Amino acid sequence: MRPGPAADMVDWRPFSLPRRCLAMPQPAFSLDQLRIVLIGTSHPGNIGAVCRAMKNMGLGDLALVAPRCEIQTSDSIARASGADALLIGASRHETLDAAVADATLVVGASARSRTLPWPMITPRALGESLPAELADPQGRVALVFGREDSGLTNAELQHCHHHVHIPTDPDFSSLNLAAAVQVVAYECRLAWLAAAEPTEAGSEAAPFGIDWDHPPASHDDLERYFAHLERVLTDTGFHDPQRPRQLMARLRRLYLRARPDTQEISILRGILSAVEKRIAGR
Ligand code: SAH
Repeated sequence: MRPGPAADMVDWRPFSLPRRCLAMPQPAFSLDQLRIVLIGTSHPGNIGAVCRAMKNMGLGDLALVAPRCEIQTSDSIARASGADALLIGASRHETLDAAVADATLVVGASARSRTLPWPMITPRALGESLPAELADPQGRVALVFGREDSGLTNAELQHCHHHVHIPTDPDFSSLNLAAAVQVVAYECRLAWLAAAEPTEAGSEAAPFGIDWDHPPASHDDLERYFAHLERVLTDTGFHDPQRPRQLMARLRRLYLRARPDTQEISILRGILSAVEKRIAGR
């Protein structure tokens, strides 16, 4: 864990002790559990400026999905203003799924609302949810940002649990990419600082309440489930991929809203396998 405001204090707590018993301030999560994901960026200067914004806020994990420009140029290095290590260390991925496979929460940043409404939060609400989302050190939150010219596609947005919208003037809603990262990262930092202060609140706000028995399913678990579900719905004749009528998008929205844990996903996969077995023997 990166040193926080309470880094000089030794954490002696037994793992399961409820947070409300704590007398000592302790950051509830690490900023290293956050990843910024940029999809299809086309200006090197914007990538540099994102690195600077991230480093200012203490974030260090940058993932680039199918960038449409060179990464290390004089422009990006100048705009990184000393945050070159992030530029050089950024991971590269072909697809969004690969960049967020291990994430337990995926949030897409969007300047506008789309045809199918999706759970939408403000950057502040996102920050406030982080201590609970990341109380488990295995928790990972991916914050996904789109292309300068066209944002995120509907398909990409439908791979996210929530969307975050910076409440701009509706007549002029699109921020520069690095400015959008700055605002969201700032709220994450404020939440991280607030989590370091002693609180009586406890972790009742955790995604599933306290003492849940299984961790949240990862993005990768969920995507494999959606692929399996679509296969079975097609095989049974319920779903016609030629006339999809937003069926899979609506089912995605339902399951992503429910935040299934790993055990629940295994049960759902088991049900699908049983259906497959039965239709194969028909
Ligand atoms: N022209 C694009 C916006 C591109 S801005 C469009 O109309 O969709 C580049 C990225 O910055 C966006 O994809 C989004 O991830 C982020 N962004 C810009 N303005 C935002 C806002 N008001 N709220 C949340 N994210 C925003």
